[in-house]
Amino acid sequence: MRARRSLTLAPGTAPRVPSRRSSSADGEGRSPSRTPGRSGGTPRARVFHEVITGIGSLLYPPSCLLCQAALVSGTQDLVCARCWDALPTTQAPWCSSCGRSLAGTGRDVTHCAVCRAAPLPLAGSRAACRYAGVAQVCVVQLKYQRQLALVGPMAQQMAEAALSPPTLLADALIPVPLHPTRARAREFNQAALLAHDIGRRLGWPVLDDVLVRQHPTAPQSQLEAPARRRNVAGAFAIHRGSQVRGRRLLVVDDVLTTGATAAACARALLAAGAAGVGALTFAHG
Ligand SMILES: [Zn+2]
Ligand SMILES: [Zn+2]
Repeated sequence: MRARRSLTLAPGTAPRVPSRRSSSADGEGRSPSRTPGRSGGTPRARVFHEVITGIGSLLYPPSCLLCQAALVSGTQDLVCARCWDALPTTQAPWCSSCGRSLAGTGRDVTHCAVCRAAPLPLAGSRAACRYAGVAQVCVVQLKYQRQLALVGPMAQQMAEAALSPPTLLADALIPVPLHPTRARAREFNQAALLAHDIGRRLGWPVLDDVLVRQHPTAPQSQLEAPARRRNVAGAFAIHRGSQVRGRRLLVVDDVLTTGATAAACARALLAAGAAGVGALTFAHG
Protein backbone atom coordinates (compact mmCIF):
# COMPACT_ATOMS: atom_id res chain seq x y z
CA MET A 1 0.00 0.00 0.00
CA ARG A 2 1.20 3.51 -0.80
CA ALA A 3 2.63 5.37 2.20
CA ARG A 4 0.49 8.43 2.86
CA ARG A 5 1.58 11.47 4.73
CA SER A 6 -0.62 12.56 7.58
CA LEU A 7 -2.50 15.76 6.90
CA THR A 8 -2.41 16.95 10.47
CA LEU A 9 -0.07 19.48 11.99
CA ALA A 10 1.04 20.01 15.56
CA PRO A 11 -0.52 23.03 17.32
CA GLY A 12 0.98 26.47 16.88
CA THR A 13 2.36 26.24 13.34
CA ALA A 14 -0.63 27.02 11.19
CA PRO A 15 -2.19 30.07 9.57
CA ARG A 16 -4.81 31.86 11.65
CA VAL A 17 -8.32 32.69 10.66
CA PRO A 18 -9.97 35.70 12.33
CA SER A 19 -12.56 34.30 14.71
CA ARG A 20 -15.66 36.18 15.75
CA ARG A 21 -15.78 33.76 18.66
CA SER A 22 -12.66 35.29 20.12
CA SER A 23 -12.82 38.83 18.75
CA SER A 24 -16.49 39.69 19.09
CA ALA A 25 -16.89 42.78 21.25
CA ASP A 26 -20.65 42.47 21.58
CA GLY A 27 -20.53 39.11 23.29
CA GLU A 28 -22.51 37.42 20.54
CA GLY A 29 -19.60 35.09 19.89
CA ARG A 30 -20.41 32.76 17.04
CA SER A 31 -22.91 34.86 15.11
CA PRO A 32 -21.84 35.05 11.47
CA SER A 33 -21.62 38.38 9.69
CA ARG A 34 -23.18 39.43 6.44
CA THR A 35 -21.11 39.14 3.30
CA PRO A 36 -18.97 42.27 3.24
CA GLY A 37 -18.87 44.72 0.39
CA ARG A 38 -22.57 44.84 -0.43
CA SER A 39 -22.61 48.56 0.25
CA GLY A 40 -19.27 49.28 -1.45
CA GLY A 41 -18.76 51.68 -4.35
CA THR A 42 -18.99 55.45 -4.52
CA PRO A 43 -20.34 57.51 -1.59
CA ARG A 44 -23.48 58.28 -3.60
CA ALA A 45 -23.98 54.58 -4.35
CA ARG A 46 -23.50 53.76 -0.65
CA VAL A 47 -26.07 56.34 0.43
CA PHE A 48 -28.50 55.01 -2.19
CA HIS A 49 -27.88 51.45 -0.97
CA GLU A 50 -28.45 52.46 2.66
CA VAL A 51 -31.70 54.29 1.82
CA ILE A 52 -33.00 51.33 -0.17
CA THR A 53 -31.92 48.91 2.56
CA GLY A 54 -33.61 51.09 5.17
CA ILE A 55 -36.88 51.18 3.24
CA GLY A 56 -36.64 47.43 2.70
CA SER A 57 -36.08 46.88 6.42
CA LEU A 58 -39.19 48.88 7.26
CA LEU A 59 -41.29 46.90 4.82
CA TYR A 60 -39.66 43.53 5.54
CA PRO A 61 -37.98 43.50 8.99
CA PRO A 62 -34.89 41.25 8.80
CA SER A 63 -35.37 37.79 10.15
CA CYS A 64 -33.03 34.90 10.97
CA LEU A 65 -32.34 32.77 7.91
CA LEU A 66 -32.78 29.61 9.94
CA CYS A 67 -35.61 30.17 12.43
CA GLN A 68 -37.22 33.32 10.96
CA ALA A 69 -37.12 35.07 14.35
CA ALA A 70 -36.89 38.84 14.00
CA LEU A 71 -33.30 40.04 14.12
CA VAL A 72 -32.19 42.92 16.30
CA SER A 73 -32.56 46.19 14.42
CA GLY A 74 -29.32 47.30 12.81
CA THR A 75 -27.64 43.93 13.27
CA GLN A 76 -25.22 42.71 10.65
CA ASP A 77 -25.97 39.07 11.42
CA LEU A 78 -27.96 36.77 9.15
CA VAL A 79 -28.50 34.08 11.73
CA CYS A 80 -29.68 34.89 15.25
CA ALA A 81 -27.28 34.26 18.12
CA ARG A 82 -29.65 31.66 19.57
CA CYS A 83 -29.50 29.52 16.41
CA TRP A 84 -25.77 29.89 16.00
CA ASP A 85 -25.07 29.03 19.62
CA ALA A 86 -27.11 25.84 19.09
CA LEU A 87 -24.79 24.63 16.30
CA PRO A 88 -23.80 21.04 17.28
CA THR A 89 -20.04 21.48 17.09
CA THR A 90 -17.88 18.38 17.52
CA GLN A 91 -15.34 17.75 20.25
CA ALA A 92 -11.72 16.55 19.95
CA PRO A 93 -10.23 14.03 19.55
CA TRP A 94 -11.31 13.21 16.03
CA CYS A 95 -10.95 10.03 13.95
CA SER A 96 -7.64 10.25 12.10
CA SER A 97 -9.34 9.15 8.90
CA CYS A 98 -12.88 10.50 8.59
CA GLY A 99 -12.90 13.23 11.25
CA ARG A 100 -15.76 11.81 13.31
CA SER A 101 -15.53 12.85 16.96
CA LEU A 102 -13.96 10.22 19.23
CA ALA A 103 -15.01 12.04 22.41
CA GLY A 104 -15.98 9.51 25.05
CA THR A 105 -13.97 6.65 23.56
CA GLY A 106 -10.71 5.23 24.90
CA ARG A 107 -7.51 7.28 25.02
CA ASP A 108 -5.55 5.15 22.57
CA VAL A 109 -8.28 5.06 19.96
CA THR A 110 -7.24 6.87 16.77
CA HIS A 111 -9.92 5.66 14.37
CA CYS A 112 -13.68 5.43 14.78
CA ALA A 113 -15.45 2.07 14.67
CA VAL A 114 -16.69 2.72 11.13
CA CYS A 115 -13.16 3.35 9.81
CA ARG A 116 -11.73 0.41 11.74
CA ALA A 117 -14.33 -1.86 10.13
CA ALA A 118 -13.96 -0.45 6.60
CA PRO A 119 -10.88 1.80 6.25
CA LEU A 120 -11.28 4.88 4.07
CA PRO A 121 -8.40 6.29 1.98
CA LEU A 122 -8.70 9.55 3.95
CA ALA A 123 -6.22 11.17 6.32
CA GLY A 124 -6.74 14.12 8.60
CA SER A 125 -10.39 14.90 7.92
CA ARG A 126 -12.50 17.35 9.89
CA ALA A 127 -16.11 18.52 10.12
CA ALA A 128 -17.24 21.71 11.84
CA CYS A 129 -20.28 20.08 13.41
CA ARG A 130 -22.65 17.13 13.45
CA TYR A 131 -25.37 16.94 10.83
CA ALA A 132 -28.23 17.70 13.18
CA GLY A 133 -30.42 20.56 14.32
CA VAL A 134 -29.24 23.97 13.16
CA ALA A 135 -26.42 22.47 11.08
CA GLN A 136 -28.90 20.41 9.09
CA VAL A 137 -31.05 23.49 8.52
CA CYS A 138 -27.97 25.38 7.28
CA VAL A 139 -27.13 22.67 4.75
CA VAL A 140 -30.69 22.36 3.47
CA GLN A 141 -31.19 26.13 3.26
CA LEU A 142 -27.96 26.55 1.30
CA LYS A 143 -28.37 23.64 -1.07
CA TYR A 144 -32.10 23.56 -1.73
CA GLN A 145 -33.31 27.06 -0.81
CA ARG A 146 -30.35 28.88 -2.40
CA GLN A 147 -29.55 30.86 0.74
CA LEU A 148 -26.09 31.68 -0.60
CA ALA A 149 -25.57 34.19 2.20
CA LEU A 150 -24.92 31.20 4.45
CA VAL A 151 -21.72 30.33 2.56
CA GLY A 152 -19.58 32.83 4.48
CA PRO A 153 -20.72 31.85 7.99
CA MET A 154 -20.50 28.14 7.19
CA ALA A 155 -17.03 28.57 5.63
CA GLN A 156 -15.92 30.45 8.73
CA GLN A 157 -16.90 27.48 10.89
CA MET A 158 -15.08 25.10 8.53
CA ALA A 159 -11.93 27.22 8.51
CA GLU A 160 -11.93 27.29 12.30
CA ALA A 161 -12.43 23.51 12.36
CA ALA A 162 -9.49 23.01 9.98
CA LEU A 163 -7.26 25.01 12.32
CA SER A 164 -8.38 23.28 15.52
CA PRO A 165 -5.43 21.24 16.83
CA PRO A 166 -4.22 18.96 15.41
CA THR A 167 -4.44 21.49 12.57
CA LEU A 168 -5.11 20.15 9.10
CA LEU A 169 -2.38 20.61 6.53
CA ALA A 170 -3.26 21.26 2.92
CA ASP A 171 -1.45 22.40 -0.17
CA ALA A 172 -4.80 22.92 -1.88
CA LEU A 173 -8.54 22.52 -1.51
CA ILE A 174 -10.60 20.50 -3.97
CA PRO A 175 -14.39 20.91 -3.97
CA VAL A 176 -16.43 17.79 -4.70
CA PRO A 177 -17.59 18.45 -8.25
CA LEU A 178 -21.14 18.17 -9.57
CA HIS A 179 -21.81 16.50 -12.86
CA PRO A 180 -22.31 19.26 -15.49
CA THR A 181 -25.97 18.27 -15.90
CA ARG A 182 -26.70 18.78 -12.21
CA ALA A 183 -24.52 21.89 -12.07
CA ARG A 184 -26.65 23.45 -14.82
CA ALA A 185 -29.87 22.52 -13.01
CA ARG A 186 -28.77 23.84 -9.63
CA GLU A 187 -26.79 26.77 -11.05
CA PHE A 188 -24.22 26.59 -8.26
CA ASN A 189 -22.04 24.05 -6.51
CA GLN A 190 -22.20 24.63 -2.77
CA ALA A 191 -18.94 22.69 -2.29
CA ALA A 192 -17.12 25.05 -4.66
CA LEU A 193 -18.58 28.15 -2.98
CA LEU A 194 -17.48 26.86 0.44
CA ALA A 195 -14.01 25.88 -0.82
CA HIS A 196 -13.33 29.30 -2.35
CA ASP A 197 -14.51 31.10 0.77
CA ILE A 198 -12.31 28.90 3.00
CA GLY A 199 -9.41 29.35 0.57
CA ARG A 200 -9.71 33.15 0.89
CA ARG A 201 -9.80 32.94 4.68
CA LEU A 202 -6.81 30.58 5.04
CA GLY A 203 -4.77 31.56 1.98
CA TRP A 204 -5.05 28.03 0.58
CA PRO A 205 -5.37 27.62 -3.20
CA VAL A 206 -8.48 25.99 -4.64
CA LEU A 207 -8.19 23.56 -7.53
CA ASP A 208 -11.71 23.39 -8.91
CA ASP A 209 -10.98 22.04 -12.36
CA VAL A 210 -8.81 18.99 -11.74
CA LEU A 211 -11.45 16.65 -10.31
CA VAL A 212 -14.40 15.97 -12.60
CA ARG A 213 -17.50 13.84 -12.21
CA GLN A 214 -17.54 11.57 -15.24
CA HIS A 215 -21.16 10.50 -15.14
CA PRO A 216 -24.26 11.59 -13.24
CA THR A 217 -24.89 9.70 -10.00
CA ALA A 218 -28.02 9.32 -7.90
CA PRO A 219 -28.16 11.61 -4.83
CA GLN A 220 -26.24 9.83 -2.05
CA SER A 221 -28.82 10.88 0.55
CA GLN A 222 -31.32 8.43 -0.97
CA LEU A 223 -29.03 5.40 -0.67
CA GLU A 224 -27.80 3.01 2.02
CA ALA A 225 -24.06 2.72 2.71
CA PRO A 226 -23.17 -0.16 0.32
CA ALA A 227 -25.21 1.42 -2.48
CA ARG A 228 -23.47 4.77 -1.83
CA ARG A 229 -20.09 3.16 -2.44
CA ARG A 230 -21.26 1.51 -5.67
CA ASN A 231 -22.96 4.74 -6.77
CA VAL A 232 -19.74 6.80 -6.72
CA ALA A 233 -17.23 4.06 -7.57
CA GLY A 234 -15.30 5.30 -10.58
CA ALA A 235 -17.43 8.44 -10.77
CA PHE A 236 -14.46 10.81 -10.61
CA ALA A 237 -11.60 11.42 -13.00
CA ILE A 238 -8.62 13.77 -13.00
CA HIS A 239 -7.83 16.55 -15.44
CA ARG A 240 -4.30 17.95 -15.49
CA GLY A 241 -2.88 15.47 -12.98
CA SER A 242 0.34 17.45 -12.64
CA GLN A 243 -1.52 19.86 -10.35
CA VAL A 244 -2.15 17.18 -7.73
CA ARG A 245 1.07 15.18 -7.92
CA GLY A 246 2.94 15.18 -4.60
CA ARG A 247 0.44 17.55 -2.95
CA ARG A 248 -1.61 17.21 0.24
CA LEU A 249 -5.23 17.83 -0.66
CA LEU A 250 -8.43 18.46 1.23
CA VAL A 251 -11.67 17.51 -0.47
CA VAL A 252 -14.35 20.04 0.49
CA ASP A 253 -18.07 19.28 0.71
CA ASP A 254 -21.06 20.37 2.77
CA VAL A 255 -21.72 16.99 4.43
CA LEU A 256 -19.76 13.79 4.97
CA THR A 257 -21.98 10.84 5.89
CA THR A 258 -20.48 7.45 5.07
CA GLY A 259 -17.45 9.07 3.44
CA ALA A 260 -18.15 7.20 0.18
CA THR A 261 -18.02 10.35 -1.98
CA ALA A 262 -14.89 11.75 -0.33
CA ALA A 263 -13.27 8.31 -0.56
CA ALA A 264 -14.05 8.03 -4.27
CA CYS A 265 -12.53 11.49 -4.80
CA ALA A 266 -9.48 10.48 -2.73
CA ARG A 267 -8.92 7.29 -4.73
CA ALA A 268 -8.88 9.25 -7.98
CA LEU A 269 -6.53 11.90 -6.53
CA LEU A 270 -4.18 9.33 -4.95
CA ALA A 271 -4.07 7.38 -8.23
CA ALA A 272 -2.98 10.64 -9.89
CA GLY A 273 -0.11 10.95 -7.41
CA ALA A 274 -1.49 13.08 -4.55
CA ALA A 275 0.63 12.73 -1.40
CA GLY A 276 -2.43 12.45 0.83
CA VAL A 277 -6.10 13.35 0.80
CA GLY A 278 -8.36 14.38 3.66
CA ALA A 279 -11.82 15.87 3.80
CA LEU A 280 -13.13 19.13 5.21
CA THR A 281 -16.89 19.38 5.56
CA PHE A 282 -19.38 21.60 7.35
CA ALA A 283 -21.21 18.66 8.90
CA HIS A 284 -20.63 15.02 9.67
CA GLY A 285 -23.57 12.66 9.39
ZN1 LIG B 1 -32.46 31.89 14.43
ZN1 LIG C 1 -13.56 7.42 11.07
